[in-house]
This record gives sequence, structure tokens and C-alpha cells, in this order.
Amino acid sequence: MSKSSTQWQAADRALPQVRSMHAYVPGKQPTGEGWIKLNTNELPYPASPTVAAAVAAEVEKLRLYPNPTSQPLREHIAAMTGLKLGQVFVGNGCDEVLALLTRVFSGAESMACMTQPSYSLYPVLTQIQAANMEKIAFSRDMKLPVDAIRACKANLFFLTNPNAPTGVEFAPEELRAAAEGFGGVFVVDETYADFASNNAVALLAELPNLVITRSLSKSYGLAGLRLGYALASEEIIALLDKVRDSYNVNRLSQAGALAALKDVEYHDELIAKIKETRESFTAGLLERGFFVYPSSGNFVFAQPPVRGNETPALAAASLYSYLEENRILVRYFPGDALTESFLRISIGRPEQMDQLLQTADLWRKNV
Ligand SMILES: *Cc1c(COP(=O)(O)O)cnc(C)c1O
Repeated sequence: MSKSSTQWQAADRALPQVRSMHAYVPGKQPTGEGWIKLNTNELPYPASPTVAAAVAAEVEKLRLYPNPTSQPLREHIAAMTGLKLGQVFVGNGCDEVLALLTRVFSGAESMACMTQPSYSLYPVLTQIQAANMEKIAFSRDMKLPVDAIRACKANLFFLTNPNAPTGVEFAPEELRAAAEGFGGVFVVDETYADFASNNAVALLAELPNLVITRSLSKSYGLAGLRLGYALASEEIIALLDKVRDSYNVNRLSQAGALAALKDVEYHDELIAKIKETRESFTAGLLERGFFVYPSSGNFVFAQPPVRGNETPALAAASLYSYLEENRILVRYFPGDALTESFLRISIGRPEQMDQLLQTADLWRKNV
């Protein structure tokens, strides 16, 4: 007898945690022309021109499997960070590295923990593992809740530094205090560290439970290439290597990423331009009565001024829609008291930020 769709349902065969979970919702990627896209923290500038040439040379060799460990990339990253080769892992985007960390260190008997608000992919990944996720809420000042982190009994902790979506950066001493007192694996997601003043690499020498994850998506302008990496003890890297796909990073990505990492001068220029625009845009928001957390990322988290007697959350929702009607996309996270009155705005080109400020002025007058 053949299986009819009323008798046999694939969902009944899915693991319970997969059946009940909600997938991660990425920021909108509009297809039409004319959008100012400031919603997913991509760079507004192209990657180093050396990337295209390196990728083109690899196209000839697509018949052959890539280097299974991304060895030349690992070697370069080890030299760049002053770490041993065995302390570097390369993945298909930072997201794959995060997924593999949950695969190794979280499960039904091994819970995870994170600060809130933060990157909303972490709880999706731990749900796939059937692991509970404890969330430690920030207070409005967004200071690192060091004592609560130390008291957490989880097996795995996720902290984004600089934080997302706020852009707030935590000092190395606070990170040390939090990671040192935490019993499990402590992940610091440094996707935005290139835009900040500090990073946690020096702490790897002291803290055997520390993992740093990085991405080329934001600070190298290579979101489409999919390349991320992890820095940790040799023991932790060996565990990640056990559970990854044998060819987890394709040829084009390995070659393109290596070229981008080698072009240090171009990268430094990109970072300098973004930081300059971030400071002038922040000043523009402050002049207009927005509240803005000091940002160490390539985005700002800004609370618009209220018009008349609308609530702060309504002001944020209304400015979000007004910007979208005017073909400017930013990110809005409703439903959480700490985020519902804010917009996260990626740093684009200076003229795009001016356009946003002018549109916000029109919104302000339009009650
Ligand atoms: C964008 C982002 C990532 C994803 O990085 P990919 O390398 O594109 O997978 C990871 N963590 C945070 C905090 C991010 O904002």
C-alpha cells in the first residue's frame, strides 16, 4: 500500500525539538533596485580587489576537492594572531563554527547560556541540540552581568563582544572575570572586533575554556563568501575537527579569504572609513534627540525621540516603517523591553547615512 499524505507525515518522524522549534529569521534581502540596505551589517564597500583574482584562479580547479582542513588559511590566521596552528579552526562562516560548538558542547544533558539581547541564532542552534538555553538579561546600562555569568551552571556560554545589537564593548578585564569564573566553555563571538578597540586573543593564554569566533562577513566585506574561524586551545579545536564536514570550506572561499586577509592595508582603510562614518552618524543622531549606545561595531543601536504622546516602542516601530516606505531598510526587534524602542542601523556610505537622517527629520515632522 502506498503512503498517502494523510497517513504518513514527515513531521511525526522529526525529532521533537526540531518539530517545536522556530527557524532563525535573517534580515530582509530586497531584490529590487534603489534600496539603502542598512539591516544586516554588511559593508557598503567591495572587498579587496585581490579576492576576485584569487577566486578566479580557483575556478579552474573546481573538479578537485578543496584542502580538507583549509590548511593555508589556518597557517595564515595562526601567524596573524600569534597562536599555534593547532589553535585555529576554519569554517563555512562564523555561523557554522557556532553550530559546531553547540554540536560538541550542548545537548539534552548539557545546557547553554547567553546574555539577552544578543545574536538570536544561538538559541536556534541549541534547540536543534535539545539543549536548554538560560538567558541572562542585560540591564538598561548594558554593563556585563559578571556575577550572574559566573553563577551560571551551563556547559556552554555565548557572549557577543562588541555586543549585538547594542554595539557596546566589554573591557578585557570584565571578560576575564566572567570567563574565569564560568565552569563550561566560554565563547566570545568577535564578529565585530575589528571595529572595536580590544579583542580577547591575549586571554587565550590564560583561559583554557575560552573560544573566540570571528567572521569575514562584516569587517572584510565578504558576507557572500561564507568564511569564519575559531581561536581556542588545541584540545577544543581538535573536538571541532572531529564533528565538521570533511570538506566544510569550499575552494573559492578558502582562496578568496586568504587573499582578503593578506591585504592588510585595504582592510585597515575599510575599517577606518566605517569608524569615521559611525562617529559622524552618531553625532547626527544625538543632535536630533536620539539616545545612542556608544558603538564599537559597524552599526548603532538608536532610540528615536517620541513625537507627541506616542510610546518609545511606537516611535521605533513607526520610524522603522517610515524608513522602509522610503526604501531604507534597518532592523527592528520588537517584543523585548530592552530592544522594542530601538532601531539597529548598519553603517553604510556617508551619503546613505545623510539620506537616513533627512528621512528621519521628515518622519519627526509628520505626526
Ligand atoms: C553576522 C553575525 C554572525 C555570522 O557570521 P557569518 O560569518 O556570516 O556566518 C555571527 N555572529 C554575529 C554576532 C553576527 O552578527
